[in-house]
Amino acid sequence: MLTETRKAELVNLCQRLVQQKSYSGQENHVAAVIKNFAQNHVFDEILTDKYGNVILSIKGSQPGPKVLLDGHIDTVPVNEKNWSVNPYSGEIKDGKIFGRGSSDMKGAVSAMLTAAVCMAEDTNKEFPGTIYISCSVHEECFEGIATREVSRIVNPDYVIIGEATNLQLNCGQRGRAEIVLETFGKPAHSSNPSAGANAVYMMSDLIQRINKLTVPEHPVLGKGILELTDIKSTPYPGASVVPSYCKATYDRRLLVGETKETVLKPLQMIIDEWKTENPQFQAKVSFAYGEELCYTGERIGAERFFPAWVFDETEPFVQAAWQSLKDHQLNLSISHYSFCTNGSHFAGEKAIPTIGFGPSFEHLAHIDDEYIEIEQLEKAALGYYALMTAFTNLKTKQSVLGGKEDV
Ligand SMILES: [Zn+2]
Repeated sequence: MLTETRKAELVNLCQRLVQQKSYSGQENHVAAVIKNFAQNHVFDEILTDKYGNVILSIKGSQPGPKVLLDGHIDTVPVNEKNWSVNPYSGEIKDGKIFGRGSSDMKGAVSAMLTAAVCMAEDTNKEFPGTIYISCSVHEECFEGIATREVSRIVNPDYVIIGEATNLQLNCGQRGRAEIVLETFGKPAHSSNPSAGANAVYMMSDLIQRINKLTVPEHPVLGKGILELTDIKSTPYPGASVVPSYCKATYDRRLLVGETKETVLKPLQMIIDEWKTENPQFQAKVSFAYGEELCYTGERIGAERFFPAWVFDETEPFVQAAWQSLKDHQLNLSISHYSFCTNGSHFAGEKAIPTIGFGPSFEHLAHIDDEYIEIEQLEKAALGYYALMTAFTNLKTKQSVLGGKEDV
């Protein structure tokens, strides 16, 4: 499947994607390279949605499922002075391609695009179903929010997330939520504090109580962490003033089945109990809300609540993925992501059968001198080819439910 020419094209494509700086909301240049690549190859449809996600498709000649491969094309920023190579060079050294986004996750996107082209060419598009690739935006701060639009447009039967798994098969992840806690006091001169109500003392009291909460645990995904990540008081700096407002943020790692309501409930109970003891105290708990601008000019906004998901290893589609990867000489184990991905939407919000498979290692994401090993890149292309072959031969949602075959 991967000839020497195709291997060279794959490396070249990965370099070209890395060479385009694409912080979240500024993915237009990398999107243009991808669209250009698609126009020059066998893709049947090239679409850019309102958020700027680029959705490509290759239609097989027979009816069958819609198989979506997703890879985000935004990256976290670079602190150039900490890098020993130009982060946008795509320079090759010791069998590795260097640059921001090489591991997270332009390498995976190049491998998906290459695998789709190879499959279309090798089969002359004689396969069931349709292959979709979404090159998605705004993942780094909004896991899964931009891809709500992708699943609305594509309505996939199966999803493959390409985030780094070191070429292993993942079938779950913890979700995450950003929880905001606020206390409201009364300002006063700090030489006469009894005239006011100190919002920081209130917060400190609440934090002590929250620290005593036990978080849930999942046999596969582990602990549902609740960790204080920042705290801020108003006015700041507070010269000779009793602070009237305090805001603390918690990072909460979510487990399967947890909802917005169940996550906030124990915190709200603590506040309610605390208020009955101190009727003059005021506090509020909510989820952080984020809003960002897309390169298309559209605004994207959502509460920072990204659900968890996990599929059992015995699910037929997980088994099909595992078998096909093995048949293509990829030795693997089944595990789960320790971080949050766009799977929060596809599997967590929409319950679409989803797996994770990608080149490179979790620890190479977001670091200085980020790189991807070319060997990993090539094996990932082979893996995506195997997964596309396996999933296009599975049943559609409709036929699983006993309805009409989707054509
Ligand atoms: Zn990523």
